Parts: sequence; structure tokens; C-alpha cells
Amino acid sequence: MSELLHDTARRAARYLETLETRAVAPSAAAVEALAGLGGPLPERGLDAAQVIARLDSVASPATMASAGGRYFGFVTGGTLPAALAASWLANAWDQNAFSGVTSPAAAALEEIALDWLLNLLGLPSGSAGSFTTGATMANFAALAAARHAVLAAVGWDVDADGLCGAPPITVVVGAEVHSTVPKALGLLGLGRQRVVSVPADAQGRLRADALPALRGPTIVCLQAGNVNTGAFDPFAEVCAAAREAGAWVHVDGAFGLWAATSPQRRHLVDGVAQADSWATDAHKWLNVPYDSGLAFVRDAAALRAATAISAPYLLLGHMRPPSDFTPESSRRARGVEIWAALTSLGRAGVAALIDRTCGYAERFAAELRASGAEILNQVVLNQVLVSFGDDARTQRVIAAVQADGTCWCGGTVWHGRTAMRISVSCWATGDDDVTRSIAAIRAAAAAAG
Ligand SMILES: *Cc1c(COP(=O)(O)O)cnc(C)c1O
Repeated sequence: MSELLHDTARRAARYLETLETRAVAPSAAAVEALAGLGGPLPERGLDAAQVIARLDSVASPATMASAGGRYFGFVTGGTLPAALAASWLANAWDQNAFSGVTSPAAAALEEIALDWLLNLLGLPSGSAGSFTTGATMANFAALAAARHAVLAAVGWDVDADGLCGAPPITVVVGAEVHSTVPKALGLLGLGRQRVVSVPADAQGRLRADALPALRGPTIVCLQAGNVNTGAFDPFAEVCAAAREAGAWVHVDGAFGLWAATSPQRRHLVDGVAQADSWATDAHKWLNVPYDSGLAFVRDAAALRAATAISAPYLLLGHMRPPSDFTPESSRRARGVEIWAALTSLGRAGVAALIDRTCGYAERFAAELRASGAEILNQVVLNQVLVSFGDDARTQRVIAAVQADGTCWCGGTVWHGRTAMRISVSCWATGDDDVTRSIAAIRAAAAAAG
């Protein structure tokens, strides 16, 4: 075992070292070669060292170099050294984070991490926390709590009796709601399209002046960090209106909620703590491994009502039982990596990570604008939308940037215009990465005619 793990660690270290020089996207040949890992399942197994050797030689070259400093796709970060190492250790432990009985260490670290996160993000202490696979399931868990609470307020126990025959729930979303919120609403029987959609402004912010009158069981979904522009909804105004009406406010802050950790950017989330629930990702801006999402719910009893289970054989012990607060039961110990990331960064380190990456986004915007590109959004966070002229030309530039391999940026359509989308979220991104990437993007634009 020891030799295998040492060999694997050497391979992993070598892999990470190659990120500096390899193309960010894998070559077509490397992707094609993945088929070689398939074929009929062999009758007899290989020894573990051979398994790892094959995996490393075939699959490593076919990965996206998203752990490195020049991947700017999808607002996902890399993995901090302490978080990666903690993840290995936790995998060796093989803990089931179901309860304090199945893993005292997992339960304790999750509880500590939860407490730290609430403090760091400026959310009400004592809120319940759900450690999920990602923000999609965090939205789901928080909205399950919301569904419970708004119906309990009118005397209906949705978790016992379901939605059939229940009083209707009004769900209000912004026009720019992230696609995972309607998905969660669908899974919860509230309907992807059975929503009141409030118009958004030019940056994608829900317009508080267009909020309908709120009446009866109501859930309002806001967002911290529009996935294209990085913009924030007007939390204080909407939360005040919702509070008056007894409505529940949920905030999808998959990446944007982390602005709260930076004294320089905290103003962006003014009023967000007045909401009732929040979803975010640790595998995005906190730079821990996948999969790691978080839901926080002010009314712990509402979340527990939606997610806890009981059975005679499930003795949960005296520690906070993680399974009482999550859609899943058996789970990996995500709190370990989050604890390690927070311990290695400290409060100042988290703020520095957020500010550094936002600063790079500003640099991308300024330098690309200086070379003739058009920046389509106000760069308030880590998101930059770049147009290189008409849609076809912008498409050509995006394709050329991806093919060149110095960096990787995705595409999007913002208000009818094709844009290259740059998201700076990785701890590993440094000055030199940004310099090289800007040069590569400029060269692609020049070559696009
Ligand atoms: C990424 C993202 C999600 C979904 O997160 P997953 O971790 O992929 O489940 C939801 N909302 C927003 C705003 C996001 O950026």
C-alpha cells in the first residue's frame, strides 16, 4: 500500500508540474486515446500499481488543466495544496460523514467549518448548514427548507403530506436566475416554469422596483454573482419587502457570496444576511476539490424538517448529525477539505484570494479594452465579458484562444451578443499567468482578422 501511494503521489506531483508548460485544453489525440481504457471488462484484474500507471498515462493527458493558473472557464477554481492533501488523507480514512457515530472526525470538522464559514461570510451564527455536492444541490436543500417553512406557516406539513392538495406557493425569481434554481424547483415539485419572473437591469440584477406584491406562501430567489456579469441583486430592498410579507428569501451565491469575505468588496452583498437561506460552492472560489457545495439556512428546524430521517438502527450519537441537514445520507467528508482550506488561508488569506482574482479580472478588462476589445459588463467581481466585434469574429477568437492552449476561456451570449467569458477563480493564477493569457488573447484577436 505504502509504495502504491508514494508512486501515486509522485505521479500527481509530476502532473501538477506539467500544468506550467502544457496546453490548457487536452489535444484531440489525447481525448481519443481515452477509448483505450474501455473495451470489454477484463476477466482478470491488474495489480493496483498497473491500474494507476495506465490511468496516469492515458487519462492525465486528456484532462483539462483546470487545476492550473490559466483556466478561466465556468467560475471554478483549482485546489489549494492543503485542501488537496487533506482530501487524500480523508480518502485514506474512508469516513462516512453520515453521523458522529460513523465518523466523529468528519462530524466535528464539518461543525467547525460551518461555524467558521458563517462567520467569514457574515451570515447569522447558528444557521444550519448542509454540505452538498455543489450549489445545485445546495439550492435544492435550501429551497426544500423554504418549501417546508412557507407551508408550515399556513398549517400544511409538506414533508409529511406532500404537495398534492397543499396551498399554492408563489415562487419569485429574477429574469437572470441561474439555471440550477429552476432545476431545483422542478425537483421539489414547485415547477421549473411555474414562477413569477421579475425583469432584470442591464447588468442582470433583479429590479426591486419591478417586484410584484408578495402575498401568501412565497419564496423569492435572489442571486449573489450573476454567472455572466458577476452582478448582485438588491438584497436589502427585496429582503425588507419579503420580511413584511412573511416571504422566504433564498440567495444563490455559488461564487458571489465569497465577496463577503473581502473588506474591499463586502459592500456588494449589503443586506444579504437578511435573507433566510443561502447556497454557495466551496469547489469554486474557496478552491477545494469537487464536489463541495454548501447551503446555509437561518431556520435550522425548517432544514431539518425537510432532510432528517430516523430509523431504529440509525443511532446518531451526541454530535451534530450531518445527515440531519443534507439531502444525502452516506457521504464523503467534505468538511475536512473545507477545514483544511480555511486553516491554511486564514481569514486574511481568503480575502486576499478574492481580491487578487478580482484584481486580475480588472486587469484583463483594462488591457483587452486597450487593445480594441469591447467589455460588455461592469467588472465588479471576477467576471469579464469580452466582445471582439461581431458574433462570428468573437466566436473565431474564442476558438483560436482555446486551440492555442496558453489559456482557456469559454463563450456565452449576453443580451443577444456573443462574448468570451473570463472567470478568474483559481488560487494558482499569478501575474505571469495573466500576462501570458492577455498576450495569447490579443494574438488570437489579431489573427482573427
Ligand atoms: C456554478 C453555479 C451553480 C451550480 O453550482 P454546481 O456546483 O455546479 O452545482 C449555481 N448557481 C450559480 C450562480 C453558479 O455559478
